[in-house]
Amino acid sequence: MNAIEISGIQEITLIDKDEPIISSPDDVLVKVKAVSICGTDVHTFQGEHPFVKPPVVVGHECCGEIVECGTGVTDFAAGDRVAIDPVFGCGSCRPCRTGRANACAEVKCRGVHVEGAMQDYFKIRACDVHKLPDSVEDLALGAVVEPLAIGAQACWRGSVGEDQVVLIFGAGPIGIAVMLNAHCLGARCILVDVKEDRLQRATELGALATFQANNPELKEKILDLTDGEGPHVTCDAVGHPVIFEQCIDLVAPTGTVILLGMDGSPNEVTELQIFRKEMTVVGSRMNSNMFPTILDRVARGQMQLEHMVSHRFAVDQATEAFKMAVEQPAGLLKAMIVF
Ligand SMILES: [Zn+2]
Ligand SMILES: [Zn+2]
Repeated sequence: MNAIEISGIQEITLIDKDEPIISSPDDVLVKVKAVSICGTDVHTFQGEHPFVKPPVVVGHECCGEIVECGTGVTDFAAGDRVAIDPVFGCGSCRPCRTGRANACAEVKCRGVHVEGAMQDYFKIRACDVHKLPDSVEDLALGAVVEPLAIGAQACWRGSVGEDQVVLIFGAGPIGIAVMLNAHCLGARCILVDVKEDRLQRATELGALATFQANNPELKEKILDLTDGEGPHVTCDAVGHPVIFEQCIDLVAPTGTVILLGMDGSPNEVTELQIFRKEMTVVGSRMNSNMFPTILDRVARGQMQLEHMVSHRFAVDQATEAFKMAVEQPAGLLKAMIVF
């Protein structure tokens, strides 16, 4: 079978690989339909990922059709169309025991810490796959359940709810995923980004307002939109110390700041700022069992998977797909490779 390997820096090779064989009664074998490309994959392609180095098969946003089930699998059958949750923990620590494997000290993401799904067939534990609703006619769209689940996680961590205003920094795939989930919860969103095409898309998808990140009147305009109080929730979907400071500065008293970024550098936030507004600051990492939430929102018609996808490529165009993800031309939200 074919696999798309990042074989070197900015180098993709289509390799021939043995088909995986079901080895545990709890496994299923999935014929991969689509894998979408994430910033993490781009870092690996560019040789900039801190620990994932070529040669490697990446891909953690994926879906497909089950072709075979282990003898112990009762909930699935061949022919089921599924999205794959790539996150798994050690299984025994407190976060794992309480359904929060994403915060396990040993957490792994398939396609990052271990082999990914950019291959014709992918073997996975049955507990990691989730059936797509029948209303999703285009199976390939199942790949973006994963990034949407990251948005669901952020909204859950930030207690986003009815009639709130959520200010989101970053209108890329993750910022948009946060917005689409916030809409399902009855909130309205203000998006901030440097790229005009991204703001345009956010508007088309129902943003309350959008602003250029360098707008000198950003704070006044956001206060105007929120009765002078500030947004109930602010969200850093970029990961930059200055944005963290803005999130802390702009959030309403008693509000919540959601941090989705993973920048390791220090910032200027003081204890006093957090104390004064009695705010809540939460981290949100990957997702913990949010696939059912997304699939329920999709089944109810509250969320459209196609809103996350802007470009599709065939397997033999994988190099072009990765190059586009590096170059980030106007109009790109998310590129996917369709098998
Ligand atoms: Zn990702
Ligand atoms: Zn664990």
